[in-house]
Amino acid sequence: MSPMRRYLPVFHDVLGASVLVVGAGAVGTRKIEALLAAGARVTVVAKEFSPPVEERSARGELAVLRGAFHPDQLEDAELVFAATPDRALNRRISVEARRRRIPVNVADSPEECTFLLPAVVRGEEFTAAISTGGRYPGAAKAMREFLEAHRAEISVRMERGRRRKRIAARRGMVYIVGAGPGDPDLLTVRALGLLRSADAVVHDYLVPAEILSLAPAKAERICFARRGKTAGHGAVMKQNAIHKAMVRLAREGKSVVRLKSGDPLVFGRGGEEAEHLSREGIPFEIVPGITAAMGSAAAAAIPLTHRGRSSSVTFVAGHETGSKRETAVDWSLLPKDGTLAIYMGVRRVAVIAKELAGAGFSPDTPFAIVENGNRPEQRILRGALSDLARTAAESGVRSPAILFVGRTAAISPYETTEERSDEPAAQGI
Ligand code: SAH
Repeated sequence: MSPMRRYLPVFHDVLGASVLVVGAGAVGTRKIEALLAAGARVTVVAKEFSPPVEERSARGELAVLRGAFHPDQLEDAELVFAATPDRALNRRISVEARRRRIPVNVADSPEECTFLLPAVVRGEEFTAAISTGGRYPGAAKAMREFLEAHRAEISVRMERGRRRKRIAARRGMVYIVGAGPGDPDLLTVRALGLLRSADAVVHDYLVPAEILSLAPAKAERICFARRGKTAGHGAVMKQNAIHKAMVRLAREGKSVVRLKSGDPLVFGRGGEEAEHLSREGIPFEIVPGITAAMGSAAAAAIPLTHRGRSSSVTFVAGHETGSKRETAVDWSLLPKDGTLAIYMGVRRVAVIAKELAGAGFSPDTPFAIVENGNRPEQRILRGALSDLARTAAESGVRSPAILFVGRTAAISPYETTEERSDEPAAQGI
């Protein structure tokens, strides 16, 4: 059979079609279920029927012909599936169907098929079909699993496709863009549009590959990392080199996206970069993103402000200053009746706990740590300040994580509902 004659119908095209399935074992039953779900009118020929097929027959959802296959049964069929364990019989069904020019599919035997069933991934507004021409069903399945695991990114790409013509990036310009906390669904539409039309992407190591892959494959990629860590492919540079690279790329007439995790102006050195570009006479625009404190607060349902509990929120850098081994923050000046969102603090959490205690924060002040907020591996830990160091050590909290301190950190509406809140899946993340 010439591969040219093959085509790949997707099940939702069979609405109302009259379909004959021969065989009602495990394979036949799977096809029958899928056909019924797609609205086909199904007739099943078999000597024995699986319990689900018997049940559907009893409910009048399909017709059954008990006994051996006979070519006359093909009379009204618009599609035929041969799914018996008998290869010779399957072949005969295929020959008879083809003689009548009825499209036929034979389970596990692509040579006998006039059409194949692709592995299918359905989204709200798309259906993706994957086929290896029947040769490697395992590979098609693996690709389907990959696509299923990347639904969020696919929906971002759908959105990007819809808006393809609307966002026109200017050349010779740098866009300092917030990528949000990591989930592609939390990008702004403007970030997405600029990313897709970028000639070059200069990104931080915290920006996940799933977001970087939204830029054109041909876009130049440069990663900023203090310690040579990278999230994508491309050069790895330190801050000064990043400044130079942005200027050079813009002078080459490129649309440069400087992509930062969260918001560029919150612990993102976006201000320094904007100053540098301004000194060099390079036009730039700053596109805000969802900062980690806001993304993680939403993911854990921690209100940053709450009537009666907190009227202020303070974003604090918890790490040490680069040169001196001391913190840049005077903890005693921070409001004790608001919410603190402490970034970059996990490595120093024991010291921070001491500093807060020294600054007069009560030991029973609630805290919450959100690790990998808005990402599939998100974890939320809660407790009181007196337990902070122990909890963080015992649970092995790692960067990126954000620490909330204040009475709001004890609020957990997700956890009081039936569904657990700290399961990202339960929140549709
Ligand atoms: N500009 C970024 C912050 C960069 S500093 C923003 O606005 O979010 C890096 C720190 O951000 C990390 O050390 C961590 O404290 C926090 N962070 C970044 N991504 C995070 C995430 N997915 N979950 C929790 N904290 C995160």
